[in-house]
Amino acid sequence: MNEAASSTRTADERVTVALGERSYDVVIGDGLIDRAGTLMAAVLPDRRLIVISDENVAPLYLERVLAGCRDAGFTCGTAIVAAGEASKDFATFQALSERLLGTRLDRGTAIVALGGGVVGDLAGFLASVLLRGLPFVQIPTTLLAQVDSSVGGKTGINSRHGKNLIGAFHQPRLVVVDIDTLMTLDRRQLRAGYAEVVKYGLIGDDEFFGWLEENGARLLDGDADARRRAVRTSCAAKAAIVAEDEREAGRRALLNLGHTFGHALEAETGFGDALLHGEAVALGCVLAFRLSARLGLCGPEAGERVRQHLAAAGLPTRLADLAGRQWTSDALIAHMQHDKKIRDGRMTFVLASAIGEAVVARDVDVDHVRAVLDDAIAR
Ligand code: NAD
Repeated sequence: MNEAASSTRTADERVTVALGERSYDVVIGDGLIDRAGTLMAAVLPDRRLIVISDENVAPLYLERVLAGCRDAGFTCGTAIVAAGEASKDFATFQALSERLLGTRLDRGTAIVALGGGVVGDLAGFLASVLLRGLPFVQIPTTLLAQVDSSVGGKTGINSRHGKNLIGAFHQPRLVVVDIDTLMTLDRRQLRAGYAEVVKYGLIGDDEFFGWLEENGARLLDGDADARRRAVRTSCAAKAAIVAEDEREAGRRALLNLGHTFGHALEAETGFGDALLHGEAVALGCVLAFRLSARLGLCGPEAGERVRQHLAAAGLPTRLADLAGRQWTSDALIAHMQHDKKIRDGRMTFVLASAIGEAVVARDVDVDHVRAVLDDAIAR
């Protein structure tokens, strides 16, 4: 990089995920794709790594990552998978395992995920089990991965019985967030990731939600300062929750706001392009606020404010936004009852007493859930 470029570059920011001796930093900045090698050299004493990426991301960023890694003294291998959720399956996991074990892999070889949440979850799961655990680094390139999936150590693949049912907690040694990579991400994927950003405001930070109402459009249109601030605030919120409750025994469950409804909608639409995860979370947040209002936890105006902001960001907020679907509350509730978060047959939801005040509600009566869904289907 020339001197002029480096002098105009904004300083990197760091968010620490405090987990004792497994603590790590999320480094957020621009141009980090080229400097990932130097950053990784500080946390990976053995200079061997394998970068796992997908067919969309590799042509854009892989060579730049590798060049920086070689400059930092790393010996590098690569593995590219097909883009999309289908790669989080047993067949891809098995093929990659055999392929990686066929190289001179040892316990010091790091696995580096370069891509969105699919690559991160798959590569992280490989890192958690190969040789009983390899060092792992995340270089997330979607907004969703930058603010959510790359931080916190959840890794996994899908089973025909459901999403993310085979997995492990395996924290990375480092997360390198280059917000410049969002420039090549398509608008729909960007918006889907934005739903997770909004979620952090809804869970515990009404001021951040207010800031997003003011600045969300700027962020979506490409403003680097707005993106950096939103990513930093989101990562800091997630880091604080993970540090307190790494294995989701309590507070971490709040991150699932909108997810019980969202998962049911994703299951009904086949976990594919018809409804992206973040889009399902947007709809799920609207429904969670409606359920909260029905249970008397908050007034209806809070949910309407949430809905208006998500709709202004171009996210679906009404079931009718998904044209050509015949929804039924029975089918959606059946999906919820298969959700792995259901314990002892009770329906647990993350609800809200206000914007910025999420609560875990157990024993929610299914009749209320049905009423909220029937109302949403009728609108
Ligand atoms: P994704 O990884 O499928 O990426 C979306 C699409 O964007 C893909 O086609 C990808 O190739 C492309 N892409 C990625 N970065 C790009 C870039 N910079 N420029 C151009 N194209 C780019 O999807 P996602 O939304 O990032 O992740 C979804 C996955 O994350 C799901 O499998 C979900 O289960 C998982 N997830 C995991 C956690 C966790 O805590 N581990 C949390 C939330 C979601």
